Amino acid sequence: MNRQESIKAYEQAIKYIPGGVNSPVRTLKSVGESPLFIKKAEGVTLTDIDNNTFTDYCLSWGVFIQGHTHPKVQDAVYKSIANGTSYGIPSIQETVLARLVNKHVPSMEKVRFVNSGTEAVMSAIRLARGFTKRNIIIKFDGCYHGHADHLLVSAGSGVASLGGSSSAGVPDSFTRYTISLPFNDTESLRKLFSEKGYDIAAIIVEPVPANMGVVIPKDNFLKFLREITLQYRSLLIFDEVITGFRLSIGGAQKRFGITPDLTTLGKIVGGGFPAAAFGGREEIMNMLAPCGPVYQAGTLSGNPIAMTAGINAIEILEDSGFYQDLEEKSEAFLSALQAETLSKDIQINFIGSMFTLFFSDSEVQSFTDVKKCNTERFARFFRYMLAANIYISPSQFESNFISSAHSDLHLERFIDLTRKFSG
Ligand code: PMP
Repeated sequence: MNRQESIKAYEQAIKYIPGGVNSPVRTLKSVGESPLFIKKAEGVTLTDIDNNTFTDYCLSWGVFIQGHTHPKVQDAVYKSIANGTSYGIPSIQETVLARLVNKHVPSMEKVRFVNSGTEAVMSAIRLARGFTKRNIIIKFDGCYHGHADHLLVSAGSGVASLGGSSSAGVPDSFTRYTISLPFNDTESLRKLFSEKGYDIAAIIVEPVPANMGVVIPKDNFLKFLREITLQYRSLLIFDEVITGFRLSIGGAQKRFGITPDLTTLGKIVGGGFPAAAFGGREEIMNMLAPCGPVYQAGTLSGNPIAMTAGINAIEILEDSGFYQDLEEKSEAFLSALQAETLSKDIQINFIGSMFTLFFSDSEVQSFTDVKKCNTERFARFFRYMLAANIYISPSQFESNFISSAHSDLHLERFIDLTRKFSG
């Protein structure tokens, strides 16, 4: 495969941008590649600047559940741009999207829009602390909640790929109130709550972690989180930046029937634009400025183009049968893939349209299991798929995604290639 233009572009980028990228995993360093430079995306196809095409299973990290460039979203965005791109003054689009979020996501009585998942989580944490007047936050090892200082503790995603569990530049005092525990482990939580329960502001969790690769919550784990937080009057925050509008139209909370106090959304809710959201019970959300004492703001928050994209993206998901079709297609594909990989020391963890191939000979249920995976073998698989024009998420510690735009032919090819993988 000729990648000359991408290589030249990388040489230029690296002169002006640290590592040549604006988000670390994009370097493809951990999989022994140099970055792709993309000039076009359409449906499930990415085209790089050398005119190579790739079937995309990363989909801008889960944003495009309906595939890239869906005509409904594209048309609405083009029209919206003609009316200006930012006002810094309210527009009706903000309320329309807020109403859609409120309609579908059980916990989100009120919602505020921000520009990234990091911002959504950072604001939700501040709000939880302001509301409970407590400081301690519990997270889980391998879960990633963006790059706010106090959450870079045993974090997954790109931080895991880099082999670090935290970051330089974060004073110890900033993480003093963050405690990270093993996911799926009720005992360690019970113990911590019995010691410090009334100082705990909130538990934050990816209800289905995707940032250490997909790890499935054990039976009743989420229910236990709900019960123990209620018992100690701490808040439960579901970080649904990935699972929101992915695992059902109401996210993981609707799928599992557990309603948290606060929820964060990103990715799908912005329809491909930099928008994210946090929301929850009205009495909590009304603590936010200008109603209450918890400050939060944003120049581009609720941007009209991003809101328009989000509204149109969600309207597509409201079509009857959207999730049923996607889930049936995903289930058939992933069960077949699982059957193919049984004898290859590859574990397929999946739920709905999210999946990870773990290069391990034993089941993966926690960050400890994840860390035992053979990342070199994963890297070989990544390069093998790339050479066959398939782009999967470029890290062992991430999820892949299926969209409504993937055809049976695409999925069969994925299975066929995996069957033939001998690395
Ligand atoms: N929370 C979760 C669960 C995420 O997966 C991510 C990013 N992948 C974030 C928060 C941070 O979002 P962003 O990259 O938009 O800041």
